Amino acid sequence: MRPLIIAANWKMNTTPADAGELAATIAARTEEPTVTRVICPPYVCLAAVRDALVGKNVGVGAQNVHHELAGAYTGEVSASQLNGLATWVILGHSERRRDQFESDALIGKKLARAISSGLRPILCVGELLDERESGRAVEVVATQLRGALAGNDVDALIGGGFVIAYEPVWAIGTGRTASAADAAAMAEAIRAALAADLGWGKAADAVPVLYGGSVTSANIAEFLAEHSIDGGLVGGASLKPDEMAGMVASAAVVAKARAAAEGKPA
Ligand code: PEP
Repeated sequence: MRPLIIAANWKMNTTPADAGELAATIAARTEEPTVTRVICPPYVCLAAVRDALVGKNVGVGAQNVHHELAGAYTGEVSASQLNGLATWVILGHSERRRDQFESDALIGKKLARAISSGLRPILCVGELLDERESGRAVEVVATQLRGALAGNDVDALIGGGFVIAYEPVWAIGTGRTASAADAAAMAEAIRAALAADLGWGKAADAVPVLYGGSVTSANIAEFLAEHSIDGGLVGGASLKPDEMAGMVASAAVVAKARAAAEGKPA
């Protein structure tokens, strides 16, 4: 059974002075053992969030990592520098693809580095609006997957807890979401691409696929009602404790229902 994951992407919000308190409040409002919770603050807030979450069973993630371990890379942060600060990392977010021109090949190198450094990666993929409107969404996402995953070892990825977030670019921060049916169809297409294009076979079934793009406590249940979707990568709403509480509570209901359907304890 795949885990239910709610991952918070705080983007370039919060400061070291306020991030710890926000993280502690969210942790206290979302205590649900059936749901994997992750908070990804800006680099400068990682230590404060880590300290606030000691003993709370909430993962801490970075929003990016460099593919090299050290060297002349001004302004960058390596996996070894994240050691002790983060155990998760978001890779290939569309805002980095757009603003830092990250390519699939570069994201693939970061993925390999994350896995070899013990960072659990959330790989973001998703199409632009015109790509969806011209019927090319699945092809675009499959190309992103092939570009980032070719050369990465499937067993290492699965063993390292590899997660994919399907985030249609036009839905991020816009208040507009994909329909649950379209998001579910894409999650299935993603696993089909892993299984067939990348030759992962049955291992593709083990990969959690999250939906991201204007997820809130009011709409998350629609996405989680789809069996192919295993949680959410949440931006704006993840800065609000009430929203996080609502989203994690919805995910817990679904986690328990899925466990019961498989005859397993939640
Ligand atoms: C994101 O940052 O990955 C995201 C989906 O943002 P938002 O929830 O604000 O659309």
